[in-house]
Amino acid sequence: MPKPLQLAARLARLADIPARHRRVMLLLSLLTLIVTFWPAPRSTPAPVTAVVMPGLVAEGWRSWQMTQLSDNWQQTKGLLASVLQSQNEHIRHYAIEPGDSLSRIFSAQGFSQQQMQQIMAADQSLLALDVLRPGNNLTFQLDDNQQLQAMELFIHAGHRVLYQREADGEFSYQELLDPGEWQSSTLTGTIAGSFYQSAKQAGLSDADIATVHQLFRERLNFSRDIQAGARFQVVRSDNYVGDTATGLSRIEGVRLFNRRQQLSAFLHDNGQFYDASGESLQRAFMRVPLARNYRISDDFNPRRLHPVTGRVQPHNGTDFATPTGTPVLAAAEGKVIRVENHPYAGRYIEIQHYGQYKTRYLHLHKSLVRPGQRVERGQRIGLSGASGRVTGAHLHYELHINNRPVNPMKAQIPLAEPIPADSRDAFLQRVAFMIKQMDQETMLVQQGCSVGTVSKFYGNTGCTGNLGLNSSALILEKGVKTSALPSSTNAKPLKV
Ligand SMILES: [Zn+2]
Repeated sequence: MPKPLQLAARLARLADIPARHRRVMLLLSLLTLIVTFWPAPRSTPAPVTAVVMPGLVAEGWRSWQMTQLSDNWQQTKGLLASVLQSQNEHIRHYAIEPGDSLSRIFSAQGFSQQQMQQIMAADQSLLALDVLRPGNNLTFQLDDNQQLQAMELFIHAGHRVLYQREADGEFSYQELLDPGEWQSSTLTGTIAGSFYQSAKQAGLSDADIATVHQLFRERLNFSRDIQAGARFQVVRSDNYVGDTATGLSRIEGVRLFNRRQQLSAFLHDNGQFYDASGESLQRAFMRVPLARNYRISDDFNPRRLHPVTGRVQPHNGTDFATPTGTPVLAAAEGKVIRVENHPYAGRYIEIQHYGQYKTRYLHLHKSLVRPGQRVERGQRIGLSGASGRVTGAHLHYELHINNRPVNPMKAQIPLAEPIPADSRDAFLQRVAFMIKQMDQETMLVQQGCSVGTVSKFYGNTGCTGNLGLNSSALILEKGVKTSALPSSTNAKPLKV
């Protein structure tokens, strides 16, 4: 929603626009309004709907095709609006504060333990309510008896989850994902002091810096080998829904020039990093996070029917029939980001691997790691068990690519092999484009036109305008430079 002031400024700007353009804009606005307020179809929606837009990674895209149960995004958005706006007197909003937990919020709101258990049962395949952060919001819809009918979790502009009470009294969930747009910017700098300080100064986040460290750590000791005057170039993409940054970002390419050494890493469509010649920089994943093979007792199935409720309850992982106490191993190196206890998922661990990968290990008997801890591939992270709501001891293992669950037994996992031959040419073309973009930005910085981000030089005479790249570089109103990178599979702009 534009703020009133911004709106006024935009209206004022309308006056400067030629009449023909103004008419087209009016027509478009009118169309948008009609679409927005068109009544939502009254048909009963599928109980569980994952509306997921295509991700960067082909696996994510396939997973989307499999899980797309709803007709389209607009329809579901309409449903959300109708649920949350139909009875405004029964609506409550809550902004998450630091240290909040769902149980604390529910008791403060006067909701019963039973209602919380029902919501958590609906959330067991997502586990979205376990990581409430400041900036997240909850919206509750109550009936006349102040009983919870629906709850919306707002995670960011591109990600909401709607929990809704069904006729049988239980809750179902719908995940609403808007992929937004990815805008790339080039950040460059010269190292004075530590790489960390110089990178921060150039606009890299802690997560970006950690990724660069991981990518090059076998070839460069950052604390010992970096010489003053070493240079770096980074192409980073940030995700926006409308004008709002969702906070999602990823590194697309890095180059580092240190003495005579030149290191490079580029992200490919398959979510893995390769150097400029297409050699893999990613360490291999284990297909099964166990020391030996166990029978698969339940497969990944995004459309599985729940044995008790009969509703679609996705099975987002693979189950292995491991007796309690079986060592569970990290599928790849990474950082532990969650160790939680959930009434249905049990004791579970989540690991962030670099690139676009995450893994989850559920129903553990015991965790052997803490949040924040770094783990190596094959390291013991816990013992399997039967915690949570299960019929017997087993390990439930999930692999997420680009924040979407994929079949861990079939997904393309990093195998530390060179880039596949059929996409090599496209990859090299993309690399050449990014290198051009990096060198262009470095030149601008050297001319004093830019320090890291283009937004800083926006408005500075002599430096704005054509960046000399080609027609694909442009400057948006908010001062973020975007470039349509050629995708590595075809020549279309990178818009995922
Ligand atoms: Zn399972």
